[in-house]
Amino acid sequence: MKKYSYLLVLLLTVQLALGCNSDGHDMNSGNYDYDVVIVGGGFSGLTAAYYLKNKNVLVLEKEKVPGGRCISGHWNGFHYPKGTEYIGKPDGVLKKVLNKLGIKAKQIPAPTDGIAYKGQFYFGNELLDFLSMEEKQQHYKLMLHLQRLNDDDIEDVIFDDQEYLMDYEKLDQISVKDWMSKQGYSELLQKFVDIENRGLFGTDNANYSMFFNIPEMAFDLPTVESINESEVYSFEEGMYSVVQVLAKKLGNSVVNGAYVQQVDVNEDSTVKVQYVKDGVSHEVRARSVIMATPAPVTANLLGDDFAEELKETLQKIQYSQYATINFFTKKRMLKETWSVSCIDEGQVVTLYDATRPQVSNDYTGKSILSVYMAPESAYDHNFNKQSDAVLLANAYQTLVKHYPNFKQEVIDYDINRFEYAFPIFSPLYAPKLDLLLKHPDTKGPVFLAGDYMVYATVDGALTSAINAAKNVKKYLKQ
Ligand SMILES: Cc1cc2nc3c(=O)[nH]c(=O)nc-3n(C[C@H](O)[C@H](O)[C@H](O)COP(=O)(O)OP(=O)(O)OC[C@H]3O[C@@H](n4cnc5c(N)ncnc54)[C@H](O)[C@@H]3O)c2cc1C
Repeated sequence: MKKYSYLLVLLLTVQLALGCNSDGHDMNSGNYDYDVVIVGGGFSGLTAAYYLKNKNVLVLEKEKVPGGRCISGHWNGFHYPKGTEYIGKPDGVLKKVLNKLGIKAKQIPAPTDGIAYKGQFYFGNELLDFLSMEEKQQHYKLMLHLQRLNDDDIEDVIFDDQEYLMDYEKLDQISVKDWMSKQGYSELLQKFVDIENRGLFGTDNANYSMFFNIPEMAFDLPTVESINESEVYSFEEGMYSVVQVLAKKLGNSVVNGAYVQQVDVNEDSTVKVQYVKDGVSHEVRARSVIMATPAPVTANLLGDDFAEELKETLQKIQYSQYATINFFTKKRMLKETWSVSCIDEGQVVTLYDATRPQVSNDYTGKSILSVYMAPESAYDHNFNKQSDAVLLANAYQTLVKHYPNFKQEVIDYDINRFEYAFPIFSPLYAPKLDLLLKHPDTKGPVFLAGDYMVYATVDGALTSAINAAKNVKKYLKQ
């Protein structure tokens, strides 16, 4: 026997003695390596893993760092969001999770809202002065209308009682655009809501189901009454703080740079997960799998034994594209407020003063201005094909209207594109979701998680993760 063969035998013997498989992970008794493998280390995958940390769990994440759409960058001692910027006041399960993790959310100092329209900024008491008197009354009526609709348990159904989704079929059949037109809301008010929706969800009014839009619209539409209140929160290092703590708690259970290629159910109901890491193919067997990847990615990963109608439904859930540019500037540009919705600026939808949660309100030094950019139609799949130069030119076009010397103030910038930015909760989304929730192929050994299963926010991702983790626990007990 050659020298390396002796070494191989020795290595295998040591691995067996230590109870490890060829990946070096713990091996359980039985015909599987893990109780649960989670595909995707975004917020939902990591949260599901945390809820299942007493099981033998493995998270496979294709990128070098976990976090998915909740990622941050650093510049000059500041952090800045590349994707997710904030959450609402933590309550319910989110509050519980944050408490468990020992992380405290920081309120972003008021005022937090601003509007840009026709080259002018509107802040404070003048926030809604871009609207006529009549439109201001319509805005007030709209707020009341939305709150009344939301009081009708819509948020509870979306987040907690999904079995009743189809009771709201009618509201789900109509787009926000058609609903607002039918109610007689002015063009400008519709544009205002459209920009909020494109900013927060990458989805324009024409492609957004009224039913799914209600909870966020009722909460997020800026009003003059709330100018001195802040309902937005972030963390020491932005949303990435939570990701970091989760990843730390999960330790070696999270494998980064692991690109999953296929997921198949074996005859004995265990699941085979094939992935590539550092150019080497791996295969692991698990008693259960949570797919925490975007819906169309999940459809492509599931093997032939999954029902076609399930995969087709997952494929039909399309995502908007989105880009963010963080400008690192010589001085603080946006001091008056934290965010500005840009009503008539094409692809530029929102500006954020990324430094606001990290400095005092009168700070004037080096700073970071985030520019969030969305396609005008959520189904524009060419948006991310635009070159950096084109995206920058679009951003500058807006910025120089408000800061004529903006280009001279820029030290550097960071551009990020998101291919799967936001699942489009288009009209008739409820029946698709209903099918996914009830389909026998999602009841084990494979389960679905991800914001598309609940709502296109961190809260939605978290709820989907907890639901999936609970279902896995029940399944493993059988
Ligand atoms: C620009 C932007 C701003 C946002 N701002 C906010 C906000 O302020 N507040 C808010 O509540 N929400 C916000 N959101 C939405 C929020 O980020 C998402 O709802 C949430 O992060 C979704 O988490 P997830 O785990 O479901 O999905 P993801 O974060 O997309 O995670 C999926 C993971 O799967 C991995 N993956 C994909 N394919 C494979 C594969 N083959 N093998 C292994 N891994 C794979 C991906 O790399 C990714 O890490 C924002 C989103 C974007 C894009």
